[in-house]
Amino acid sequence: MSNSIGFIGLGIMGGPMSVNLAAAGYDVAGYDVHRPALAQLTAAGGRACDRIADAVADADVVITMLPDSPQVEEVVLGEDGVLDNAKPGTLLIDMSTIRPETSRRVAALGSTRCLRVLDAPVSGGQQGAIDGTLSIMAGGEEKDFHAASGIFEVLGKTVVHVGPHGAGQTVKAANQLVVGGIYALVAEAIVLLEASGVDAGAGLEVLAGGLAGSRILELKRKSMVAREFQPGFRIDLHHKDMGIVLAAAREAEVALPVGALTAQLIGAARAQGDGGLDHSGLLRVVERLSGR
Ligand code: NAD
Repeated sequence: MSNSIGFIGLGIMGGPMSVNLAAAGYDVAGYDVHRPALAQLTAAGGRACDRIADAVADADVVITMLPDSPQVEEVVLGEDGVLDNAKPGTLLIDMSTIRPETSRRVAALGSTRCLRVLDAPVSGGQQGAIDGTLSIMAGGEEKDFHAASGIFEVLGKTVVHVGPHGAGQTVKAANQLVVGGIYALVAEAIVLLEASGVDAGAGLEVLAGGLAGSRILELKRKSMVAREFQPGFRIDLHHKDMGIVLAAAREAEVALPVGALTAQLIGAARAQGDGGLDHSGLLRVVERLSGR
């Protein structure tokens, strides 16, 4: 099934994801409010659309990769949006990182129009999107997850059905909690090493090979020490994600003290004008706390 895909939101992540689907033989019709974002899809053989309706009316599957909950609500639930234009039976896969409760609402309203809905946020960053090696965490009906497996195989490497509607977003929130915390601690390690007169590059190389090792230390330690903070994943987006994390914690009635502290650091970075930097740029706010 599902050879025809409507793809909405072709930014840092959605752009290369749509290109990979077109390259894999899917008929991809893209829509983005920022029209130049469609250029890479058309270069890969996809179709650029001027309206949501044109992208989704003939699609078997609609994928959305938008910044946040309000954009997903506008595009999917809004006037002349996906719900108004997709044919019954269409599978809507929202791969954006949004609030779990929004995913549940989209799924419930989708079902009133006979749409099948999955929340399937991703981890792995821009490079994972380009390489088709994303981790994909999907929430929704098992049979819809299986129906999407061909698409997920193109986009990702680790693909897991984690539970009912919204569960994908809860897993993604846990992911962002861990990623933010690791960045904050790697930043503190760099500040400590440099302030103590120790070469941070050499120090982090050892950490990366020991128990403190992580993908973040592996992939980002050199650029952090060199203060290269080109996004990647913007601090602004991680700030949005920490809001999702803390709201989920309140709903689940649990305390996340380290997460709350991480959220404050990310919020401070943004308030100090660093929101457009990669989230590894959290180093700058940690440095400023030490007057460096
Ligand atoms: P982005 O800002 O680069 O892309 C979002 C795209 O959506 C833009 O091209 C924008 O023009 C378009 N858009 C916004 N509002 C729209 C609307 N109403 N209608 C149509 N198009 C609209 O963001 P991104 O980095 O690609 O992130 C997308 C989602 O993926 C976010 O939820 C983010 O948290 C998540 N994510 C990002 C990364 C990353 O490393 N960048 C990694 C994992 C998950």
